[in-house]
Amino acid sequence: MSVAADSFVVQIKDLHVEYKTYAGMVKVLNGVNFHVDAGEKVAIVGETGCGKTTTVKSILRILPRNSRIPKGEVLFKGENVLKMTPAQVRILRGSGVSMIFQDPTMSLNPVFTIGEQMMEVIRNSGSPGAEKREVQQELAVMALRETAMPDPERIMLSYPFQLSGGMRQRVCIAMSLSTPRDMVIADEPTTNLDVTIQDQVLKLLKERVESKHSSLILITHSLGVARETSDRIYVMYAGNMVETAPTKELFGEQLHPYTQALMRCIPRLSGGGVAEGIPGRIPNYLTPPEGCRFAPRCPHAMERCRSEKPEFIACGNGHMVACFLYDEKGGC
Ligand code: SF4
Repeated sequence: MSVAADSFVVQIKDLHVEYKTYAGMVKVLNGVNFHVDAGEKVAIVGETGCGKTTTVKSILRILPRNSRIPKGEVLFKGENVLKMTPAQVRILRGSGVSMIFQDPTMSLNPVFTIGEQMMEVIRNSGSPGAEKREVQQELAVMALRETAMPDPERIMLSYPFQLSGGMRQRVCIAMSLSTPRDMVIADEPTTNLDVTIQDQVLKLLKERVESKHSSLILITHSLGVARETSDRIYVMYAGNMVETAPTKELFGEQLHPYTQALMRCIPRLSGGGVAEGIPGRIPNYLTPPEGCRFAPRCPHAMERCRSEKPEFIACGNGHMVACFLYDEKGGC
């Protein structure tokens, strides 16, 4: 890896997550390795159901009750989140990491005004002076103003239902950055918004994260969104990170057969034809394939792929891939 491990804000090592269901144990994460450097904007890209949300929820310890972590570590600034006490987790959520969800209506309480909710977040942040109401008020108005909200004082007195979807997501961005944060996690933050404002909201998120010197994890199923927003991309497939590279490098060359297939799915607007789909589907996590989980869909699958799990190998320039094709050739 190109960066020193002690500069990581978040590092996930060999994380396995399972969900208990009536049908049996669903093995969703299958040894995820992942890191985010200080001030870095990282996108996690992959199909729906590949484990992106499960990965980031483990950072905040907000996995559902039926989950189990049989193996792995989640480090936030070197501290294992999975071993934190409830008081340490409260500090982590109050001032270390904030999360912006897909649906802003789910994150805002309908019976409190925007101002009351923002001030509560600021009060719980532990920032200097944050216990005083006038400081909470001032920081909340300032955060709304920084997201180019018209008339922030009026927004403070509004209830969520009085705002449009785009404005509610702006409020969530303002709320997540109203006090200093080491890390912002945004889970498909524009999926539920009108296409015409998706771009504005993503630009705003990127600009606010940069101006506050926070790190960002953006979850998206769109390589186009990842390209516009991130410094580095992780490609995730069926509970594993299969490739990572600086964004420009990844768009220049894709090594993993799944990433290559994802690239072919991008619609071409310049007369290059209609985008292809990826044949097959994500495996059943109750009985996932033994070795490489992409093997049933991979046109290059070999005998070894069906019994052994490929691990990341470094290919230079921060590019890493988990695929035996490169190992077989003795490099990338
Ligand atoms: Fe395909 Fe094998 Fe590489 Fe998996 S490890 S992507 S099955 S070639």
